[in-house]
Amino acid sequence: MIRRLLDSAAFYYLAALVLLLAVFFTQFEIEIPKRSQGTVLDIRKLASREDLNLIFVVIDTLRSDRLGSYGYARNTSPTLDRMAASGIRFENVESQSSWTKASMASMWTGMYPRSTRIDHFSDGIPEEAVLPAEILRDEGFATAGLYRNGWVSPNFGFSQGFDLYVSPKPRRRAAQIEAESNLNRQIRGNDLDATESAVEFMRNHQHDRFMLYLHLMDVHQYLYDAESSLFGTSYSDIYDNAIHWVDRNVESLLGEMEELGMADRTIVVVASDHGEAFREHGVEGHAKDLYREVQSVPLIIALPFWLDPGIEVETRVANVDIWPTILDLMGLPSLPGAEGQSLLPLIEAAAAGDESQAGELATRPVYSQLNKRWGQPLEEGALDLVAIVDEPYRFIRMEPSGMKALFNHESDAGERVNVAPTEAAKVEEMEQLLANFLAEAATPWENMPTVEIDAMRLGQLRALGYSLPQVRDPKRKGEREALEREAAAETAAPDDH
Ligand SMILES: [Zn+2]
Repeated sequence: MIRRLLDSAAFYYLAALVLLLAVFFTQFEIEIPKRSQGTVLDIRKLASREDLNLIFVVIDTLRSDRLGSYGYARNTSPTLDRMAASGIRFENVESQSSWTKASMASMWTGMYPRSTRIDHFSDGIPEEAVLPAEILRDEGFATAGLYRNGWVSPNFGFSQGFDLYVSPKPRRRAAQIEAESNLNRQIRGNDLDATESAVEFMRNHQHDRFMLYLHLMDVHQYLYDAESSLFGTSYSDIYDNAIHWVDRNVESLLGEMEELGMADRTIVVVASDHGEAFREHGVEGHAKDLYREVQSVPLIIALPFWLDPGIEVETRVANVDIWPTILDLMGLPSLPGAEGQSLLPLIEAAAAGDESQAGELATRPVYSQLNKRWGQPLEEGALDLVAIVDEPYRFIRMEPSGMKALFNHESDAGERVNVAPTEAAKVEEMEQLLANFLAEAATPWENMPTVEIDAMRLGQLRALGYSLPQVRDPKRKGEREALEREAAAETAAPDDH
C-alpha cells in the first residue's frame, strides 16, 4: 500500500501542492509592511503620496536636553532616540511661550504670540482661525485629538477640525500606576489612558487616512510606574523617570502602529510646548520666564521609511514652523496666516551637509513671548516678557520695567551670565530687531473671543502644574515648602502654569 502510494505521481503532486500552500500562507501571515530604507530624495516624494497618515505627539513640558538624542547622559528616551537616529532631529528648537495655552496656540496657528494675541487665561482661538486639523479633515483625513491638559480644551478653541476631540477617561489599570507614584495628582488618569485610546483609534481606522494628535501630560505631572523608577528621588530625577515612562508609552504606540501594518505609510512627529526649570535661574516649573531651560524643546520627525544616517538640523528653528513643515511634507494646502516657514529646504540642506544653503532659513532669528500676568484679572494689565534668539545670542526684555538680559551661547550655553551691561551695541541691535518684530504683528482675526471660566475651573487650571507636584512623603514635604517659599520670594508674578 505504502509502496503503491510512493510510486504514484499524484502523491508527489499533492505533496508539492501542500508544501507550496504552506509556504504561501506562512509568507502571507508574516507579511506586515515594514518601513524600508529611504533617502533624502524620498522626502520630497512624500508630497505626492495618497496613503499617508499622521501621528502628532506633543509631550507637554519636555525640555530637549533631557533626551539621549540631545546629548543627555541618562538613558531616558530610547524610543525617541531611535526615531531621531533614523529620521529627522532638530537640535535647536524654540517654543513660542513657556505657558501651555500661549505656546500651543502658536504651534497650531504657525503664528507668533504677537499675532495670535493669546496670552491670558480668558483668551481663546477664534472660530474664524483655520487650524491644521481643519485642513486635514477637509482633505479627507479622519481627525482625532486626545488631550490631557485643560489649557487645550475645546472652550479655548483648540478642537477646531477634529472629528473626535476628547480627554481620555482614566482606566482601572492606570489607577494602579498612579498608586506606585509618590506624588499627589493634580489631574486624574495618566498617559497610558491616552496611549490605549490612541491604539483603539488606530485599530478602528486601519482603512482610513487619519491624523491623530496625542497631548501627553505625565512628564508635566512627574508621573511614572515602578519600571521607570530608575534615576533617583530628587525632582530633577523623577522628571527623568517620567520621561522614561512616557517614552515607553510612545514605544507601545509605535509597536502597535507596526503591528497594524501602518509603519510604511505613517509620519510620526514628536514635539513639546515648553521645557521645565530646576532653579537654573532661581525658579522651578515653567510659565514664569523665557530662559533656555523652558524654551528649548525637542522636535523629531519619523518618516514612513528609515534613513541611515538620520538627518540632524543644527540651525535654530521655532515651533511655529512645525505645521508649515508637516503640511509641506505631506503635499497639503498651507496654513493661512502662518508666520513660521516650512523647514523642508533646511532639512535638505542639512542632509547635504551645509545648512547655509537654506538661505534666510539658516540665519533667521526666532521669538517667544510670555505675559507673566496670564493668570491674573485682565485689569492688572500685561507684564510682558519677550525674547529673541539670534544665534549665538538670546536677548530677553521685560515690559514695562525695561529689564534686559543678554546671553552669548558661544561662551555660556546655560545662559548664566548676563552680558547686557558690557555689550551695549549688541543690546541695541537686539532692541531694534525686537521693535521691528513687534511692529510687524499681524492678527488676521476680527473677533477675539473672551472665554468665561468660573472661579473654580480657573483655580483648577491655575493649579495645573503649579510649580511642581506635591510630594506625599512628609520628609520631602519640608524640602518642598522651603523651595516654594524661596521661589515665591524671588518672583512677584503668578507662579502657575
Ligand atoms: Zn505645557
